[in-house]
Amino acid sequence: MTEELKTGGQKGYLRIATEEAFATQEQLDAILRLVKEGRADKGTVSLWGFYGTSPSERTTYIRERLLDLGPLRIEAMDAAGIDKAVLALTSPGVQSLHDIEEAKGIASRANDHLAAACEKHPDRFFGMTAICPQDPEWSVTELKRGKEELGFHGVQVNSHTHGHYLDEERFDPILRACAEMDIPLYIHPQGPPDPMIGGMVEAGLEGAIFGFAVETSYHALRLLTTGVFDRYPSLQLALGHGCEGLPFWIDRFDYMFNAGVRSKRYPRLKPLEHGLHHYLRNNVWATNSGLPSPASIKLLIDVMGEDRVMHAMDYPYQYVPDEVRLLDAMDLPAEVMKKFYQSNAERLFKL
Ligand code: CA
Repeated sequence: MTEELKTGGQKGYLRIATEEAFATQEQLDAILRLVKEGRADKGTVSLWGFYGTSPSERTTYIRERLLDLGPLRIEAMDAAGIDKAVLALTSPGVQSLHDIEEAKGIASRANDHLAAACEKHPDRFFGMTAICPQDPEWSVTELKRGKEELGFHGVQVNSHTHGHYLDEERFDPILRACAEMDIPLYIHPQGPPDPMIGGMVEAGLEGAIFGFAVETSYHALRLLTTGVFDRYPSLQLALGHGCEGLPFWIDRFDYMFNAGVRSKRYPRLKPLEHGLHHYLRNNVWATNSGLPSPASIKLLIDVMGEDRVMHAMDYPYQYVPDEVRLLDAMDLPAEVMKKFYQSNAERLFKL
């Protein structure tokens, strides 16, 4: 497993990594201030109390790499054979902040900063807009600016906003804007909100190991089961980490959802125009960020189809070039490999 990884399509495809993170110093400072003041939720305290202050080798490396949108990142991409990176402001974006004016300023300046880096590396970096869901109307304006002025290719929302979810009416302008402006919505995890986190921190399980997927799959399932995609049939949702597990569970979700609807068990759950599989195959895209598993990727392709599963690395949180070698060797037809690494991402993000 020591073959040199090269960019430029040595294997018959370019490699596009679709869930790559950056941070700005003022974003990290604002989050850490909340943590120090005891005003952050437990998930943020655990995540940024660790990544923001620990002197360990891992956290020092990650802080340095998050803040870099230049030579370090290009060098890492070259070493791992990654041709292009789709970049977004790292979790939780500005969604943990309480001061909305401050949050909007940080998101907007992060967007400007990212746009400048993309302009400097037009073949390598592609941005997603950061928004502030605490102010949906402002977020719509920023989405428009991101797409039309900054040349961005999607929006990343870091799951819940103070325990609230995008299917709630207040966020409808954001969903409508994504559908109308054809902006892919990437829902990325953060720690579960306090009412959900329970004993997860004590168990060491609230973060990327488990709690992220629990909370983000819950978020996505809320969108699927409350008819968001009947309202906006053109809306395209991307999920990382093996689609946060949804394809593995989809038959159970579908059976129990229909049983609940038929028996009118929950007032909010109404009949949908299609079965849940339909939305997974028409409105949802998966990436394998943090999940370099051929078996999992094959399951995603089986359930969602070969046109909706994309590569991601999750740099700098999980930067392991050997994972690229492992995935290059997947037992999949050449045309499916090209879709996975390259053309599905080109299609979704319009690269
Ligand atoms: Ca990530």
